[in-house]
Amino acid sequence: MEKKKKWPEDWQDVNPGLMVFRPGSAREYQTGSWRADRPIFDESKCIRCGLCYIFCPEGCISQDERGYFHADLDYCKGCGICAHECWSGAITMVEEG
Ligand code: SF4
Ligand code: SF4
Repeated sequence: MEKKKKWPEDWQDVNPGLMVFRPGSAREYQTGSWRADRPIFDESKCIRCGLCYIFCPEGCISQDERGYFHADLDYCKGCGICAHECWSGAITMVEEG
């Protein structure tokens, strides 16, 4: 079976305007690779309100079985919106090492 291609191998393979033409393919594009900062979630301060989940523009925050929220770092771009919106101060942005 032919291996599914994930990334363009040279610039001629890149779609004009970086458009994604195939619907439902966003999961293949791991947009967290160029993140400069990452969110760290402190469960001891989290009141499980879900605001971070609502405001994350990437839709990469999900709730675990205990009700706490975490970011999927394969897709988090490090924008810091979750940390800005979390009024209990449970999210801290730290520089990628
Ligand atoms: S916004 Fe903050 S307090 Fe609310 S669920 Fe997210 S991390 Fe927890
Ligand atoms: S830093 Fe931005 S992309 Fe990452 S989890 Fe927070 S809101 Fe989402």
